[in-house]
Amino acid sequence: MNFQSTREMRVSATCAEAILRGLSAEGGLFVPEAIPHISLDEITALRTLPYPELAARVMARWLPGFSLDELSRQTSNAYAPQRFPHDVAPLAQAGELFALELFHGPTSAFKDFALQMLPRLISAARAQCGETRTVSILVATSGDTGKAALEGFCGVPGTSICVFYPDGGTSDIQRLQMTTQTGDNVEVLAVHGNFDDCQAGVKRLLADEELARALDASGVTLSSANSINWGRLAPQIAYYFAAYARLCERGVITCGDEVDFCVPTGNFGNILAGWLAKQSGLPIGQLVCASNANNVLTDFIRTGVYDRNRPFYRTASPSMDILVSSNLERLLFLLSGRDAAQTAAWMRALHETGRYDIGPEMLARMRSEGFAAFCADDDACFAAIRDLYTRDGYLCDTHTAVAMLGAQTHRRPGVPMVAVATASPFKFAPDMLRALGRPVPQDEFEALDALSAYTGQPVPHNLAALRTLPVRFDDVCAPEDMRELVASRLVH
Ligand SMILES: *Cc1c(COP(=O)(O)O)cnc(C)c1O
Repeated sequence: MNFQSTREMRVSATCAEAILRGLSAEGGLFVPEAIPHISLDEITALRTLPYPELAARVMARWLPGFSLDELSRQTSNAYAPQRFPHDVAPLAQAGELFALELFHGPTSAFKDFALQMLPRLISAARAQCGETRTVSILVATSGDTGKAALEGFCGVPGTSICVFYPDGGTSDIQRLQMTTQTGDNVEVLAVHGNFDDCQAGVKRLLADEELARALDASGVTLSSANSINWGRLAPQIAYYFAAYARLCERGVITCGDEVDFCVPTGNFGNILAGWLAKQSGLPIGQLVCASNANNVLTDFIRTGVYDRNRPFYRTASPSMDILVSSNLERLLFLLSGRDAAQTAAWMRALHETGRYDIGPEMLARMRSEGFAAFCADDDACFAAIRDLYTRDGYLCDTHTAVAMLGAQTHRRPGVPMVAVATASPFKFAPDMLRALGRPVPQDEFEALDALSAYTGQPVPHNLAALRTLPVRFDDVCAPEDMRELVASRLVH
């Protein structure tokens, strides 16, 4: 089975090619030509499997050309106990809600699920395609992606990675996680601007044919580790199955019953993975898209009008501070009956006017797929963090808090509601202390200790270790200099 582009029907690529390219040449995103079907029997059989095995089975259906054996080897490495010392994807209970905790990996954020796999998939794809050039990964990050990608690619032969993050747009800990990264094949740059500037810059570079020719002559080919790469999306589909399997295993549901999910959303990758799981047969009812004050998706799901012409807010959930959610394009393409011309027209309108309207019919389709919208500002999140901790003894980070609130709002009687917990509370310790009504030390590391002392929960090892690591990267550039910097570092 091949992959097609969301913007151009004539494009066809194998899965390995789609993973190596990241983005299609004309700017579209790759999607499989057919959605696999995963039967209830197969889902039932997942119940007792350890996470790596379960993930390999699910991914094998979404990564044609990659064998189950190969994927099993990859997942047993990617999700090994030395990377995920705790359970891989535990399902916690928080009052009447469930929390699918995806932050027990090497960088304490859910992006580890995808970014521990992507480098292995790229390595395998290089072999499948006979690619001899170095695959150089460009990443735009609003915080968590950067570190998770650096950690995933660091030292992987045949690859290098350059991460762009918005200067001042991340927490101090997030910045240190990136700027202290070790490895010879890594590069980290701060950009004057917000996440959208970084992402637009990376998209421009990936579509720049002249740059591609110059790099090719130097034995380098560019790709993306942003959530637009299929190799990132496929690993994310697996944990929806894992959550469902755990609920069956615990007897909360009988296999076949509906489960609802609420997903704290930024670039729309995580929730899209949930919808793809549903498309392939996982009995998901609602998919609640939870946003912070940057609620462009809330308005979109309620009205069918996507309009990024609005103020950009820096919130306490910075990984969701996004006005252009790239992965939405895949949903539009698939919901429109794979209408590439229509999808391209919407994306052109977005590019030219910052706005598009999908009309009542598409809106109705989106609703009938179970999509619901929710948004909450920082004050509401802080109150939720305090309430959940004092009432239910559950500590959640500022991103997860948005999902918890959305889950409470949209919960249906008799249907389990799972909020996707995307980051460790310790990644955002000062805001956590603020939310809990505790004094906030100036120093972020003191804040970590204070949060640990107050809650009795240990600081994750990878965060505690940042205290003593030397900073290796401190350059800041303007968005228009990104091309020059990439060229100067990669073209010889
Ligand atoms: C990236 C991120 C999100 C948003 O996920 P998308 O796939 O971009 O929608 C939410 N929470 C955290 C902690 C993140 O790092």
